[in-house]
This record gives sequence, C-alpha cells and structure tokens, in this order.
Amino acid sequence: SITVGVLALQGAFFEHLQLLKKAAEQAPSSDWRFIEVRTPQELATCDALVLPGGESTTMSLVAERSNLLEPLREFVKVDRKPTWGTCAGLILLAESANKTKKGGQELIGGLDVRVNRNHFGRQTDSFQGPLTLPFLGQDAPSFPAVFIRAPVVERILPHHAGIQTEEARHDDVVVAPSKQARDSVAEAATAEHVEVLATLEGPAAQNASHSDPDKEVGDIVAVRQGNVFGTSFHPELTGDSRIHAWWLSQVQAAVLKRNKLKQ
Ligand code: GLN
Repeated sequence: SITVGVLALQGAFFEHLQLLKKAAEQAPSSDWRFIEVRTPQELATCDALVLPGGESTTMSLVAERSNLLEPLREFVKVDRKPTWGTCAGLILLAESANKTKKGGQELIGGLDVRVNRNHFGRQTDSFQGPLTLPFLGQDAPSFPAVFIRAPVVERILPHHAGIQTEEARHDDVVVAPSKQARDSVAEAATAEHVEVLATLEGPAAQNASHSDPDKEVGDIVAVRQGNVFGTSFHPELTGDSRIHAWWLSQVQAAVLKRNKLKQ
C-alpha cells in the first residue's frame, strides 16, 4: 500500500484528507492509506506528504517544537519523496521567502523559488476565480481556485550551489538551510528544473484586487520541481478533487519508480 501523510499541526489538513479520500475512491488504482502527521515517527511511515494551507509561521514553529523540521527537510530535500504544499505549505517548501514584520520563519525548502507571501494583500482581499490548469488536461474545465492571503512565486532561482548565499545577501528574505550540507544524493536529485504549471490570468486575475491588469505575464501560482509540487491556492477548500486525483497519480508513478530502483 501507499501511505500519504498530511501534516496536521495547523491549518486545513482535515479538508485535504477528505479530498484525498474522495480522489482515491474515484480512481482506486492503489491501496491507499491516508494519515495525519504530527510526529517524526508518523512521517517516517509516509511515501508522500501534503503540507496544507494555514499560517506558515505557526506551522513552522510547531514543526520545530515537534522536532519535525529536520525530518521534513530530509523527506523533501534528501529523499525527494513526493510532497505537495498548498498556500502556507508552498511558502514552507520555498528555498526563499520575503520576511514578515516579525522577521522570518524556518523554511523547509525543496523548491528553488522565492515566494512573496500575502501577495494579494490581506484576508479581506481573498478571492476565488476560475483558473486554467493545463496539467489537468488540454480541455479540462477551469478550476475554482481559492486564494486566501496567498503567496505567489515571484522568482525562480538559478540552480547552482551558491544560491543560498546569494539569496541570503538580501536582508528582506529568509532562506532554507543549505542543501550542500546534506547528502550528495540530494544534490543529484535536485538537478531537476522548476516547471511553471499555472499562472493567474483572465477572469481569475480580475478578481484579485491587487493584481496589475497591465502586466503581460500572470502571477505564477503552481510549480513543480521533480517530486515537489506547490500551489498558491487551496484546492482543499473546494469540492473539486481533480488536483488531488492528478497528484495521487504522480505519487503512484514516483513510488513505482522508487521501488524499481530498489530492486
Ligand atoms: N499568507 C499565509 C502565510 O504566510 C498563508 C495563507 C494561507 O495558507 N491561506 O502562512
């Protein structure tokens, strides 16, 4: 069976579990197990992980107190196990993020991007809009994307060893601890590039009060780098399980590949 964990320290973890179960019922291609993750022991049983939306600062503080930060970094950056972060989860997966008024927080990292938190403004500037997600299929109907104090990917970082030092020179950003200190296997695995999977354009962008209508390229709201996937919005807050179903198929492929390599 394949075990998928949802980090359950704070935020919309319950909603993710509901939609994962719904997606798995519709496509019962594997024997899935879905669990809430609050301890390193629980994380160790997972083949894949979801980091929900919520409050990234709180989530990372609780993770630190639960001794989960380092195990999470190992999971994402060394083992490169399939991980999906939504909203606050995307912030935690970024290698770099702008600081909050209170400073920064500990990032997990794994995606070579810099995110801009609260890109669209405050809670009251939250919006929903139809988003085109080409990875769900060429003719897939648009996705009802919910943006709540959502981050966007403002920069894709060049993939080279000095990235942390370069980023750390900016005094308004926090960076995830260096990958170099980690296993060299991890370095090889992260030679993968960051793919932009979706940008905010058209009707959805018009709902965002802080977006610039004259901008030629939309804001980046979904990215993937190998097994690490991030979305700015909250698919867990809709009844639409298509992204969950798509992601489970990615997880299944990654687990099959991993098992083959082990043989
Ligand atoms: N902006 C929030 C943060 O910094 C994320 C908001 C969300 O997950 N809805 O964590």
